[in-house]
Amino acid sequence: MGEKIYVGVDLGGTTIKVGLCDAKGQLLKTYEGDTEAQHGAEHVLSNSAAYVRKLFDQTEYDWDQVEGIGAGIPGFMDIPNGFVKLSPNLGWRNVDVKGTLEAKLGKSVRIDNDANVAALGEAWGGAGAGIDNLICFTLGTGVGGGIIAKGSLIQGFAGMAGELGHLNVVPEDEAISCGCGKKGCLETVSSATGIIYMAKQAVADGAETSLSSLESITAKDVMDAAKLGDQTAIKIVHRAAFYLGRAMALMSVTINPQRFVVGGGVSKAGEYLFQIIDHYYRELAVENSQEGVDIVPAVLSNDAGVVGAAGLHLFG
Ligand SMILES: [Zn+2]
Repeated sequence: MGEKIYVGVDLGGTTIKVGLCDAKGQLLKTYEGDTEAQHGAEHVLSNSAAYVRKLFDQTEYDWDQVEGIGAGIPGFMDIPNGFVKLSPNLGWRNVDVKGTLEAKLGKSVRIDNDANVAALGEAWGGAGAGIDNLICFTLGTGVGGGIIAKGSLIQGFAGMAGELGHLNVVPEDEAISCGCGKKGCLETVSSATGIIYMAKQAVADGAETSLSSLESITAKDVMDAAKLGDQTAIKIVHRAAFYLGRAMALMSVTINPQRFVVGGGVSKAGEYLFQIIDHYYRELAVENSQEGVDIVPAVLSNDAGVVGAAGLHLFG
């Protein structure tokens, strides 16, 4: 029997990506197929198992080398029992993922939600490799998060640890409603959705900005306009970065991470955005909690989920 390998399943609403990792979190091989969520959970899990088998057919690795299988799934989980309690993206309620996949594949299966798994992927084989205390923020349609402390993924009492998009950071008088049912969450300002909302508000309020000439506004439009010196866009970017900096400052005295990894579509604005985030973080975080701490971009992009899922057996 050769080296130990780990299988990851990144189960999305439209695509299932499966992959093999070595013990260092390096992705060896991937395979992708359609989810076909409309046919129900049993069908989707059969597809997942079939894609894992197809992946193996294309490699020289032996099935005996597999230490375990991990699955990252969007939604709310009962992690210890391996159940998906609710996944609006997949249309699932109370699905026994662990039991079903273990029966189909004959290996131990662990699950977690997609944001935690993506964070674990970066921590294990990406921008956080070798760092034991790490926090990830994913700035996409919403804001995802993940916390690695002492080398373990923190899942919490009910699996809600790391739901950093719902850190309550915006003061009452400026807070708007969040999809979670509360007001003032980080994702209402620092996600692509939040940035677009602020831009539309500014245009509606008659602000002088190049954004007002656009038919529809994306977060990238706002970033690009800010880089070109558009004062309205600059204000919006600073507001998004300020609240992310505040969230990081809060996390600094909670977990005291050595590194913050920021990924997702918004993070593609690059150095320009990272400098502003860093500025607010340094301004807001207690000095001793920020010493030696850095903020870096995610590197795994679309592979973070499958790598992290594979890592659940080592870190979950
Ligand atoms: Zn929320």
